[in-house]
Amino acid sequence: MQAIGQKRVLITGGAGFLGSHLCDRYIEDGWDVICMDNFHTGSKNNIQHLRDHPRFELVRHDITEPFMAEVDLILNFACPASPVHYQSNPIKTLKTSLLGTMNMLGLAKRVGARITHASTSEVYGDPQVHPQPESYWGNVNPIGPRSCYDEGKRAAETLCFDYHRVHDVESRVVRIFNTYGPRMAVNDGRVVSNFIVQALRGDDITIYGDGSQTRSFCFASDLIDGIIALTHQSDTQGPINIGNDGEFTVKELAEKVVSITRSSSKIVYKPLPEDDPKVRRPNLEQARKFLGYEPKVRLEEGLIKTVDYFKSELAL
Ligand code: NAD
Ligand code: UDP
Repeated sequence: MQAIGQKRVLITGGAGFLGSHLCDRYIEDGWDVICMDNFHTGSKNNIQHLRDHPRFELVRHDITEPFMAEVDLILNFACPASPVHYQSNPIKTLKTSLLGTMNMLGLAKRVGARITHASTSEVYGDPQVHPQPESYWGNVNPIGPRSCYDEGKRAAETLCFDYHRVHDVESRVVRIFNTYGPRMAVNDGRVVSNFIVQALRGDDITIYGDGSQTRSFCFASDLIDGIIALTHQSDTQGPINIGNDGEFTVKELAEKVVSITRSSSKIVYKPLPEDDPKVRRPNLEQARKFLGYEPKVRLEEGLIKTVDYFKSELAL
């Protein structure tokens, strides 16, 4: 086990939603932090408060290009995560997962750094096993509109394990399930931020399909605790699911958001996007067993905090 303190971490995608929370956490824990981002979906606002910190450095760089730095740890989070954004330039999305992860594994090999890679529940595709354990190989369409993300993340996992087997790189893989919270962009496009922004603006709340599809929503602070546990408090390589195993239909989520915001918005129904998974919920047995992980923030509590954040973003 590696102790936290006085070391240097490279956080790719560090100006994004999750990456910026990781920057905060590592600064608090005494690390030197290099935040690398190309600002495709990230924002300088997310890390503005760190800009003058003596242990924080911001580098504008695209991860598909090689990058050199002396670091002890890499957290590889660069990649657009919202379907709207990852499908807007699918070839670039695939390059970011594939070339970007290869570049980071190459750097880890060269400098002897540990690397924790952000994979996703999307590796399970439209799952035929429910809830999803890490042992399930998934049901992914290799040629559909979501494939650039799903297959890119699957191939990135392969690279993490091959660099470990061939070059002894200390790679760790976390499969992140739908995570939400402060610092999501107003235009992110994922369901929690869309519903909250629509409710606060009094716009129609757009349910895709009939709203019976399910997701399991994890608040950002729980996810960050899981990443820290995987990276520092265990010898597990993964892949390991991190999320919250409460399961809700999209319609239930819409109703909760309307009730918390006391919004007068109407719920409207739009076509379901192609290959949209019908169910998703993590099996967290491995995370509980190897990391002592337990999600703490209930959906209502996390939604209230996220609504407060979006109120201030929208200056309401
Ligand atoms: P996000 O879009 O807020 O953050 C992604 C960050 O990566 C952004 O700052 C973006 O500008 C940056 N980026 C994108 N392409 C890049 C490139 N080529 N070079 C450098 N930087 C680049 O999304 P997020 O929710 O914070 O997701 C972070 C990571 O976690 C992603 O890898 C994502 O796939 C993974 N993940 C997130 C979730 C979730 O629910 N939030 C679920 C599964 C996996
Ligand atoms: N969704 C929705 N309305 C929206 C955005 C998303 O009904 O405005 C649905 C989407 O079709 C999916 C679920 O909410 O079934 C979660 O979508 P999201 O884009 O957040 O992430 P996914 O889990 O699909 O990657």
